Amino acid sequence: MSVIVYTENWEGKFKKSSYELVSYAHSIATELGVETVVVSIGQVADDQLNILANYGANKILSATNDKFAVLDNAAYASVIARAAKANNAKVIVFANNFTGKAVSPRVAVKLEAGLANSVTALPLSLDPFVVQKNVFNGKALGKQQINSDIKVISLAQNSFEIKEVEGSATIEAFDAGLNDAKFDTQLIEKNTVSGKIILTDAELVVSGGRGMKSADNWSPLEELAAILGAGTACSRPVADEGWRPHAEHVGQTGKIIAPNLYIALGISGAIQHLAGVSSSKIIVAVNTDPEAPFFEAADYGILGDVHKVLPLLVEAAKSFKAHQ
Ligand SMILES: Cc1cc2nc3c(=O)[nH]c(=O)nc-3n(C[C@H](O)[C@H](O)[C@H](O)COP(=O)(O)OP(=O)(O)OC[C@H]3O[C@@H](n4cnc5c(N)ncnc54)[C@H](O)[C@@H]3O)c2cc1C
Repeated sequence: MSVIVYTENWEGKFKKSSYELVSYAHSIATELGVETVVVSIGQVADDQLNILANYGANKILSATNDKFAVLDNAAYASVIARAAKANNAKVIVFANNFTGKAVSPRVAVKLEAGLANSVTALPLSLDPFVVQKNVFNGKALGKQQINSDIKVISLAQNSFEIKEVEGSATIEAFDAGLNDAKFDTQLIEKNTVSGKIILTDAELVVSGGRGMKSADNWSPLEELAAILGAGTACSRPVADEGWRPHAEHVGQTGKIIAPNLYIALGISGAIQHLAGVSSSKIIVAVNTDPEAPFFEAADYGILGDVHKVLPLLVEAAKSFKAHQ
């Protein structure tokens, strides 16, 4: 028996979120007294795979094929379900990100398993299997019991402490059992942005909304982000207006992030926006409207004009960095 965890890689490397997932899966596996088996899809060097042993992986199944260079939901789900069957998996863990949300339901269908998304902690009980999860777009927490033999869950980012353990893992090439006909998607061209902090990975995020007033007002926000080493984000209307790229749009229909610090500048705090940021550890909202919903969700609020507050934040960040 095993707990399976799918660890996504980016250009052959794992990120902090992968270590969080393996730590989480390992904690469940330890409770169940079973192995932690990692499934890695795509080309990842052994030294990278070996790192996962530091977080509790006992066995690492590495499925490689040139066609895995692009996320093909159906093909990825086939590989993970096959690995789950081969290892008699009782629990399968994904990240609650774009990939996890696309692939985990397919895996659940293939294994006739119950599915819980956006889980925020270790299961409250293993028998019956009950998890705590975000509900109402992260506005509240709910409990969900999964009654099927196999359970598929996706873990909300930044929900579990990364724990290093002593141990080693075996690495096995995994035969994905897929012929070319099983791939629906083909990579034609790839354009990558380099030197930018990846938003979903950023520990600090500075974000702007319509209160920024125009695309021309973004340089102090970018300056603040650069000083702090933060990623930049925005609300959906800002991306819709073309003030910022859609890759920066966070929320229900955008990216879901959970940084340690989220600074929201001139963003109202609509429920659809909060859905993407409410798992942030600390939220700071700057708004001229004392009734702005963001003040309800924020840990710190600054009532003021963003165009006056931002330069002060930039100066404060500069001075803080100078004295570090
Ligand atoms: C199905 C659906 C999905 C959606 N998905 C998303 C999503 O994923 N992400 C998302 O962000 N939105 C999403 N939305 C839109 C969402 O409902 C809000 O309309 C949007 O988040 C508002 O963006 P905003 O706060 O930037 O703009 P506004 O609502 O216009 O708010 C601007 C805020 O700035 C403040 N302000 C104005 N001037 C200043 C100033 N000078 N200084 C400081 N503060 C100032 C105002 O008081 C106000 O609170 C979705 C909507 C729907 C219906």
